[in-house]
Amino acid sequence: MKLDKLIQGAGKLGIKFNGKQLKQFQTYYEELIEWNKKFNLTSITDYQEVQVKHFLDSLSVTSALTKEELENSNFNIVDIGTGAGFPGVPLKILLREARLVLIESVGKKTTFLRQIMAKLGLDNVEVIQGRAEEIAHSPLYREQFALAVSRAVALLPVLLELALPFCRIDGKFVAQKKGEIGAETNRADKATLTLGGKLGEVKRVELEEFGDERYLIIFDKISPTPEKYPRRPGLARRRPI
Ligand code: SAM
Repeated sequence: MKLDKLIQGAGKLGIKFNGKQLKQFQTYYEELIEWNKKFNLTSITDYQEVQVKHFLDSLSVTSALTKEELENSNFNIVDIGTGAGFPGVPLKILLREARLVLIESVGKKTTFLRQIMAKLGLDNVEVIQGRAEEIAHSPLYREQFALAVSRAVALLPVLLELALPFCRIDGKFVAQKKGEIGAETNRADKATLTLGGKLGEVKRVELEEFGDERYLIIFDKISPTPEKYPRRPGLARRRPI
């Protein structure tokens, strides 16, 4: 059966898809593979692997959300360094009414994202080509989001500087991490405090499909991020808080 790995795994997360959503995932897979022949978007191209390592892994973020958040039609999400759309696009396929903003600095990736949004018929999505450090200073995006997400972009102290400025007070930032995370999480204390966050919970994603240890590190936004953050592009990486 088509998408059986995704359907099975998502079932364990309490997610059921309708026919339209399954069609969207199938089209997303096909377009990803087609575009990947021209541009290097992902090294994961096997049908089963894309279902698990891209789609299911993205959807695991829902484990960090409350029932109210999942059902809120005014929910909004920003995905920082989204690449070919992970985790933002699978989340948008699932949470159809949510507003989604995808931030990515590489133009060929944003070209793909704009094309795939149109092809999947997803609306209320904005694709922005640019650096998170700059976009986070625009009043249109600063402290506007209920949820900021980011996967495989940077170490936590760096990531927090890119992501927390986008979260509104009472919003949350969910970082997806693999493997040994203790040291990285401890090193993020200063950045968390400085940027107006608080470590909420570290949640292990309990899905045998992954065969490795995956975590959702959940930060709550409790006070405004000081105006000087994020610093100019590249500085968070060179001199993490
Ligand atoms: N999140 C996707 C995933 O998990 O498949 C892509 C991960 S990829 C390793 C990291 C992406 O983040 C790249 O596409 C890169 O261009 C983008 N990126 C890194 N730093 C960025 C920044 N400061 N602002 C916007 N995009 C950034």
